[in-house]
Amino acid sequence: MRPTVACLLLSAAALACSRPAPPPAAAEGGGAVAGDLAVAPDVEERLARFAPTKIEADLSALSPEDLKVLALVARASRHLDDVFLRQVWAGNPELAAEVAAWTGGATPQQAAARDYFRLNFGPWDRLEEMEPFLGDRPHPPGAGYYPEDLSRQEFEGYLAAHPEQKDALTSTLTVVRREGDGLVAVPYAEAYREWLAPAADLLRQAAAATGNESLRRFLELRADAFGSDDYYTSDVAWMDLDAPVEVTIGPYETYEDELFGYKAAYESFVTVALPAESAALDGFKSELPWLERNLPIANEYKNLNRGTESPIRVVDLVATAGEASSGVMTLAYNLPNDERVREAKGSKKVLMRNVMRAKYDQILVPIAQRVLAADQVDRVSFDAYFDEVLHHELGHGLGPGKIVLGGRPTEVRLELKDLYSTLEEAKADVMGVYDILALIDKGVIDRALADSLEPTYVAGLFRSARFGVGEAHGQGVVAQFNYLEAKGALAVDADGRFRGVPEKFPAAIRDLLHDMLMLQARGDYAGTAQFLQRYGTPGASLLAAIERLKDVPVDIRPLYAAVPEG
Ligand code: ZN
Repeated sequence: MRPTVACLLLSAAALACSRPAPPPAAAEGGGAVAGDLAVAPDVEERLARFAPTKIEADLSALSPEDLKVLALVARASRHLDDVFLRQVWAGNPELAAEVAAWTGGATPQQAAARDYFRLNFGPWDRLEEMEPFLGDRPHPPGAGYYPEDLSRQEFEGYLAAHPEQKDALTSTLTVVRREGDGLVAVPYAEAYREWLAPAADLLRQAAAATGNESLRRFLELRADAFGSDDYYTSDVAWMDLDAPVEVTIGPYETYEDELFGYKAAYESFVTVALPAESAALDGFKSELPWLERNLPIANEYKNLNRGTESPIRVVDLVATAGEASSGVMTLAYNLPNDERVREAKGSKKVLMRNVMRAKYDQILVPIAQRVLAADQVDRVSFDAYFDEVLHHELGHGLGPGKIVLGGRPTEVRLELKDLYSTLEEAKADVMGVYDILALIDKGVIDRALADSLEPTYVAGLFRSARFGVGEAHGQGVVAQFNYLEAKGALAVDADGRFRGVPEKFPAAIRDLLHDMLMLQARGDYAGTAQFLQRYGTPGASLLAAIERLKDVPVDIRPLYAAVPEG
């Protein structure tokens, strides 16, 4: 899964702890009003937190045929923007049209609001716990997936009374609608046919254009899945994809569904492969069984049956669509999420080198300069950052997935519900560091990296902590920070700057990983809630340090080069 590192990587987070909430959007007080839409008075500052950054890909190795495929896939992807817009909120298309109509006489605030709407895929600020920056409508927790007035309680009551509908209504790939007095599940293929059908058509054209068999197979099967909602075979084909153009397209992550975390959002990453870099990292694949055995939990809780194919791809990003284009940008992802595929084939990690470099230069280094003790700043390195991201992603494939509770087979995801992604992302962060330390001890990773591991990880925590405690990944980051500080593995100097405490750091990482893995192994919802409550609130030293990061961009706003038509 993708998000991250509130991880270093992740995706949709919030900055709430670092800035006061703006006043309610209102006409007075400087807010612009278009029709009856009030614009948050500070919308230009909000937008400015995303530094426009050129994202360039190395296309030099691509043939004219590859370029044609790339262009067709990029066109197919754009249809997913239309789908995701509706997944965020049913009212979005109408609002988008209204916002687009400002173009003529738009004020600077309106222009910023329009760009910010596009970046957030809706009128809610993804950096501010989805508070509205346009209008005053609160964000529906069920996004566009459920009737807006449906409460958790009502849904659960309905499921209890209609067990025969449970599978369909809680499916990852259905939209829930009211029909008469009841609820019905509408399959994605039907609900979003208007956009999925033309996207599928373009994928088939791309399939016809490529001479690469693994890519042709994936594109054809994926196009079929857009019409059938059966993604299993194409997910498997995606695992086997080995082509100059690396495409990830479909319904994947469930973060947008804040009501239950069931429903998957459509997105796309169009990338080009960097084979030499990928081959260098693929060596870690063979270490995965050893890393699973090395987890700091009893053997009975280890997941020794997961597939070990787990390819690693290093790519340059060319374009994104749908959820991948919203809010904070992902720099790596680990898919698919379907446990059946993961058991059979493992999962594939895709690291976007050009995005990682851009974020490292624009964000991580300036953060390190502001929050780390002076002697720690120069120890931060891109190599450590890259490896932490890689092992975060590998970490998603390790530890409990399918579990058995009292004889009942289930999944960690289903038991931890809305808390699942918070814990899973934090687990992956910590496991990344734990595994790198273990591989250094084993002689697989150069010991030279040890020196930069801990300061780079700490700077990364700050990068993620800025995203705020209200957002899933932000809270998981604060929990890591507080836990390590409580164990004496993180110290703050008199001037408020942080340093890792090397003699305590590895043991604290181990303990933290153990605690989180056991919450997963036991499918312990109440324990996870308790853990997040105990450790998930930022303390004064953390908040003060975050305050010093105000002038550092929160994220990049990617400016992609046009895709040549080949
Ligand atoms: Zn992650």
